[in-house]
Amino acid sequence: MSFTLAIVGRPNVGKSTLFNRLVGKRLALVDDQPGVTRDLREGAAKLGDLRFTVIDTAGLEEATDESLPGRMRKLTERAVDMADVCLFLIDARTGVTPTDEVFADILRKRAEHVILGANKAEGQAADAGVLEAYGLGLGEPLRLSAEHGEGMPELYAMLQPLADAFEKRAEADAPETEVDVKEDESDEGPRPITAAKPLQIAVVGRPNAGKSTLINRILGEDRLLTGPEAGITRDAISVQTEWDGTPMRIFDTAGMRKKAKVQEKLEKLSVSDGLRAVKFAEVVVVLLDAAIPFESQDLRIADLAEREGRAVVVAVNKWDAEDHKQEKLRELKEAFERLLPQLRGAPLVTVSAKTGRGLDRLHAAILKAHDVWNRRVTTAQLNRWLSGMLEQHPPPAPQGKRIKLRYMTQAKTRPPGFVVMCSHPDKLPDSYKRYLVNGLREDFDMPGTPIRLTLRGQG
Ligand code: GDP
Ligand code: GDP
Repeated sequence: MSFTLAIVGRPNVGKSTLFNRLVGKRLALVDDQPGVTRDLREGAAKLGDLRFTVIDTAGLEEATDESLPGRMRKLTERAVDMADVCLFLIDARTGVTPTDEVFADILRKRAEHVILGANKAEGQAADAGVLEAYGLGLGEPLRLSAEHGEGMPELYAMLQPLADAFEKRAEADAPETEVDVKEDESDEGPRPITAAKPLQIAVVGRPNAGKSTLINRILGEDRLLTGPEAGITRDAISVQTEWDGTPMRIFDTAGMRKKAKVQEKLEKLSVSDGLRAVKFAEVVVVLLDAAIPFESQDLRIADLAEREGRAVVVAVNKWDAEDHKQEKLRELKEAFERLLPQLRGAPLVTVSAKTGRGLDRLHAAILKAHDVWNRRVTTAQLNRWLSGMLEQHPPPAPQGKRIKLRYMTQAKTRPPGFVVMCSHPDKLPDSYKRYLVNGLREDFDMPGTPIRLTLRGQG
């Protein structure tokens, strides 16, 4: 079975040119039904060994203001709904326009798979526009030249695995494939935004840290155990609740199931279960026992959460049992900085799961960390900031040639990821990258989230 690709984007970005290239001599089948579909062209496309249907929303007038005229919006939405994959084109020579942003928004909300194409990318005049395209939050832009046929092998490479997945989905025609599609969805891709989606948290930590006590306290009377379900919860037990007005889904680690298990087994269990819970979570609460904080198991799971790109909150439990709270807190903060430098800035909250003290602060820290994890900084702000950073502390000049950092943009959120266009990316020392990452964290107030920074050479 083949699939359907919709080419969308504002007028003049090169949709028809690309459509014609993909359809070639195999004549476009023009759908001449009245109404909206009249403007959707459909053709049989060929790219390498792939055969698919391509639809094109060409023939629209340029939008004059920031809101897309109704007809264009409707047509685009229709094309998106008909398609398995959307190829969203921008004109890299012009750069990202407000109309492009509106399209990006529609696609983020509505499309299952989006490939972002920066068209007219032949030559250097397109470099800045390609970089800007990262800022649309639709992943890495694919450099294309519809007119000159550049980028077609890369387009093929992106479509080919999707074509395989669609084929499998069609064959299986079973609920399991739905899971596959979900798992395939990378952080780069658009996510369907569902209303009031609960915030997903995991409480992890060594056995006896107090995870069950904490979760039960959060659940309170309102306990709503969903138990294992098909799909996403298959590998991790979760409960959904409302905590101080915030819908949350809490992924369980060994804690809630441990009662029947022997201690020895538990040690192993809690690590692997913790890993699974981390994968499902947006915010990971690393729960420490104040009496034995920062044990190796705690460090491992905190590090894993960071590497998985999750927002992290460190909660120190059993605070009720501590006598010298001031001094203890100082020690904890010092140990945190020393042992988990990769989580610099993550909030450290003291709680008592037993008495409920500090849970309001934990709640606030979770919301803040989640917010930061989703944060988006504008390209204009970033570039102003970058020039200040460069001035304050210029990058090194190996062999007398200064490394030039030219342009910066945020390519993704969850966690925040940034791309810097740079003249010799491989020569920039890690210390300079850390300088930038720490600066971003400080200046844009992004504690408690991993920050990814990618350097790219100017192509
Ligand atoms: P549509 O309105 O999005 O369908 O855009 P068209 O396909 O009609 O293209 C608009 C203009 O951009 C035409 O003049 C094309 O020749 C030009 N164009 C399309 N693709 C490219 C490209 O890859 N490079 C350059 N430089 N121009 C292109
Ligand atoms: P889990 O293995 O991480 O799920 O830990 P549990 O929730 O089963 O708690 C382990 C032990 O620590 C139990 O005896 C709890 O009563 C105790 N505990 C949990 N939270 C607190 C707390 O805030 N203060 C004190 N003093 N004890 C606690």
